Amino acid sequence: MNISKSGQITINGISGSPGICIGKAYIVDREGVNLIKRYPVNDALVPKEIDRFKQAVLKAKNDHAKVIDSLDKDLGENLNILETHMVLFKDKMLYGKTIDTISEEKVNAEWALRKVSREVKTMFQQIDDTYLQARVNDIVQVSDKIMSYLVGAQDIKISDINKRVIIVAHDLSPADASQIQLERIKGFVTDRGGKDSHTSIIAKSLRIPSVLGLGLATASVRNDDILIVDGSSGTLIINPEEDTLFKYEDRMARFEEYRAGLERESHLPAITKDGIHLNLMANIELVEEVVAAKDYGATDIGLFRTEFLYLDLKRFPTEDELLSKYKELVELMTPQSVTIRTLDINGDKVNPYLKTHEEANPSLGLRAVRFCLENEDIFITQLKAILRVAAFGNIKLLIPMISCIEEIIQVKQVMNKAILELEHEDKIFNKDIPLGVMIEVPSAVMVAEHLADHVDFFSIGTNDLIQYSMAIDRQNRRVAHLYQALNPAVLKMIKMTYDAAKKKGIDLVMCGEMAGDPMNIPVLVGMGLTDFSMNSASIPEVKKLIRNLDTKKAKKIVKKIMTLSSVQEISDFALEEYKEIFPFDKLAE
Ligand code: PEP
Ligand code: MG
Repeated sequence: MNISKSGQITINGISGSPGICIGKAYIVDREGVNLIKRYPVNDALVPKEIDRFKQAVLKAKNDHAKVIDSLDKDLGENLNILETHMVLFKDKMLYGKTIDTISEEKVNAEWALRKVSREVKTMFQQIDDTYLQARVNDIVQVSDKIMSYLVGAQDIKISDINKRVIIVAHDLSPADASQIQLERIKGFVTDRGGKDSHTSIIAKSLRIPSVLGLGLATASVRNDDILIVDGSSGTLIINPEEDTLFKYEDRMARFEEYRAGLERESHLPAITKDGIHLNLMANIELVEEVVAAKDYGATDIGLFRTEFLYLDLKRFPTEDELLSKYKELVELMTPQSVTIRTLDINGDKVNPYLKTHEEANPSLGLRAVRFCLENEDIFITQLKAILRVAAFGNIKLLIPMISCIEEIIQVKQVMNKAILELEHEDKIFNKDIPLGVMIEVPSAVMVAEHLADHVDFFSIGTNDLIQYSMAIDRQNRRVAHLYQALNPAVLKMIKMTYDAAKKKGIDLVMCGEMAGDPMNIPVLVGMGLTDFSMNSASIPEVKKLIRNLDTKKAKKIVKKIMTLSSVQEISDFALEEYKEIFPFDKLAE
């Protein structure tokens, strides 16, 4: 963090999505919850402090009751969890003991609540009963809710914000980010978050400048402070000096001009200088993104992340609901192809209503296909909707997070069950669709040749492949420096996957964010990759680079790159070789 004499503060974080915005800060946070200070309370004021605590509990409880009322009554276990929370608000251990602590220790309510909830948490964790241990999370959530009323930082619904502001938050979930109303919110910054996290992917597709992983944003910004968000370089400037403001206004204008220029050319074909045709497809999360994908020049939908339909609902969608959404998409895209990926929830895309078991490491837990194989009815419902929509268009089916052969065999067995059900129900469907797996777990790379015997195509998911091979959490800013696509280990895995696909004669696509960064394209094309799917906003810039690229040179250069041992050497070498065609620094002084 850098503070100038005039009070301008500059904090560097991680680029979430490119672009610049300037505007007033709007803090959306419950971070106060984590910054609790202890202060003594005068004897005479103890009853008032207890009353303040009781009021906070009452407000939190009323709020919670409203949530329960608004839900579907057939939520089963999920509803039970929420009802358990209702009881916990007045639980003796939490409620009673907090009041006792305020009066006995004569401390503020926040401190007392924090102390008691920690004690209860420790106690539960020591009990040798997994059910009770799992209840720890309920206690934490209830106490956080009360705390947010105590510190005056109630949850603000992102979709309710109706000012032209820049959001400052401790963290935004992918679901929060997808609620952003473009015409209202200029950009956002967060303390947490890492490169290629789902929050950053959504920000890119919304084309909203963002900086993540700032660590100190919520602690340094006050509501209504003037902010400059430079999403391209990953910088936040608070209360800028006049000179800085002028400089960034100019940069903002130049960036917009550069982007508009790229977009004017986005309809041109992705043909290299030596005439090789490459396929640039779009990754989308919502059907509504198709129009933008086409405008940016995407030929097909190379990855439809279906989980967002589930995250928006408060229950699992029915087969017909899914079918009608998929149909909308297919109608917009036909005759071009749509690759529908089955549900990839948990990890960082969690729906609170689906969360029945706490996991210490959700990214390594019951995520994606693992969740689907455990919850066969949910999986079959989705597979049936996909097979049915395949009767109307050009559909490919993609399975995420496959880590071994057994899983794909099991998936095929479940598919057969779905097919039998559809036959039995006399429904129109098409089972002859290409089946692919995401290659995003290192073990899948290692057994890619075997996997290829079971499927029609691979789709390399570098977002997770980098996370899992480098052992870095995609969401953790503190390890974001290790998240580098051009790491030799990552490049070797891509090459191994390419070799396996080629040897077995199956198709290969890359759909991770790595493909959306023009700097990586020469290396990938040099390795032989021809099909890329990316955030559609990245397509114009990638296309421009492809139109200037010579594949013969790329193949020669990649041979040398594969012998280099570090990211630094690789990027320096690539930069030197391709400096003429790499995107000029749009924001250079
Ligand atoms: C990936 O992991 O690269 C990918 C495309 O999937 P997601 O970002 O949805 O995990
Ligand atoms: Mg993934």
